[in-house]
Amino acid sequence: MTPSYPEAVFASNGLARFSPLLPRLSALADALLAENEKVNLTALRAPEAVWLLHFADSLLFADLAEQTGAKSAVDVGCGGGFPLLPLALALPETAFSGLDATKKKLAFVERAAAALGLPNVATLPGRAEELSRREELRDGFDLAVARAVAPLSVLAEYCLPFVRIGGSFLAYKGPEAEAELREAKPVFTALGARAEDLVLRRLADPADPGKENVRALVVVRKLHKTPPAYPRRNSEIRSAAARLPCGSDIRPADE
Ligand code: SAH
Repeated sequence: MTPSYPEAVFASNGLARFSPLLPRLSALADALLAENEKVNLTALRAPEAVWLLHFADSLLFADLAEQTGAKSAVDVGCGGGFPLLPLALALPETAFSGLDATKKKLAFVERAAAALGLPNVATLPGRAEELSRREELRDGFDLAVARAVAPLSVLAEYCLPFVRIGGSFLAYKGPEAEAELREAKPVFTALGARAEDLVLRRLADPADPGKENVRALVVVRKLHKTPPAYPRRNSEIRSAAARLPCGSDIRPADE
């Protein structure tokens, strides 16, 4: 029997161990595409694209998230729930918080987490650079993850204040990762952290085997407390990033 697209996409990306999640992910795909008729949660319209570019992409580095041994994690700018929801399904022992400035996206995340029976998902509405000033959230997480939110040097300032000393920040990136990493290194140092690894993988599409979808995970370790001057106001973070040699392409929160 020919495998379904979801089975094929998991098999071709080394994600077969997550096949017990397929029924719940199918329900999530249906809910996401239905909700997308009302609220703009994703630019993707076809179920296959959701499986490849949201589900497989979110899980492509789940092994590295798992290896951190994190008991708590924050997904900064989780939007409609990526990588948050697939990671929370894959790592049931980790308590995840989905942070986003857009409340209506988090409303979907909450409903989806309830429908999936995911007790390990909570939400944090607000802007990252404001929430990390809250005492109970600062240095409060073993792990911060983020995908498709901002260039690395900006993202670092959004994410690292949330991470406890010894914890990790994992940035999901594409082929631009190497250049962004070069720019972001001094920012990591200023924030008390250091880049440990850049892991490159190919996201394989069984419907288009020749296509090179390069994915990267930037692995960052927090070594010291982030100085109280950080994070700066968003306008300052952005203008500092704009002064970097390559400039920047910051996607603002779409409240
Ligand atoms: N991570 C998701 C969503 C990416 S879109 C995915 O990969 O599909 C970027 C999201 O980041 C938007 O939902 C936007 O509201 C949020 N965002 C951008 N800057 C933010 C900030 N400073 N604080 C909180 N959320 C932010």
